[in-house]
Amino acid sequence: MSGEVERANALQTYADETASCMRCALAEGRTQVVFGAGNPNADLMFVGEAPGFHEDQQGIPFIGQAGKLLDKLLAEIGLERSDIYIANVLKCRPPQNRDPLLEEIASCESHLFRQIELIQPKLVATLGNFATKLLSGKPLGITRVHGQEQEVMLGPSRVLLYPLYHPAAALYTPSMLKVLSEDFARIPALIGRADALTPVAPPVAAEQAPVLAAVTELEPVQLGLF
Ligand code: SF4
Repeated sequence: MSGEVERANALQTYADETASCMRCALAEGRTQVVFGAGNPNADLMFVGEAPGFHEDQQGIPFIGQAGKLLDKLLAEIGLERSDIYIANVLKCRPPQNRDPLLEEIASCESHLFRQIELIQPKLVATLGNFATKLLSGKPLGITRVHGQEQEVMLGPSRVLLYPLYHPAAALYTPSMLKVLSEDFARIPALIGRADALTPVAPPVAAEQAPVLAAVTELEPVQLGLF
């Protein structure tokens, strides 16, 4: 079996396991777990915040208005959904689309980290504050750090982390959309740069997976939106 097929199978197995996750209270109100979607062998992975109404209904991340904007931004740089993988910090929809709670992120973060370990992207673009703070391990908000790539270790892999505004925030704010579009324009070059990073180790078994980061190291206020 080729490495790519093996990786896709491992990711699907993990998605199947996650579908029945009851680790936090969001399990009670969800229609389904929204695990992630796209190319399991993608070099570029996007990480958003949490499923909304449409995502919860259909089980696919980023299919509402913000998702349409994401598709448009991808098209501007010659990419489409099948070129990337996309997931959220939380896999279940918070009621009324409220912000994720610290305890929900702490419960769910290992699902995201396992996804990253299996996919082994070279460039991880975080959309908005929650994903950026979680994966950078730093409290700096998206307004400060958007468009500034940084090398981070995510499990066994050194990846380029690239914080971006969340498309939902840019939907009705033309100035923010302009910035987001400009930040997107750098992605192709950053993928090339990420190629030169130290090669990654093969995926490790779930029980051997290292603790990649701990959201609980951040104070609740540090995980806020701005
Ligand atoms: S949000 Fe995450 S931890 Fe909570 S039930 Fe859903 S998959 Fe499990």
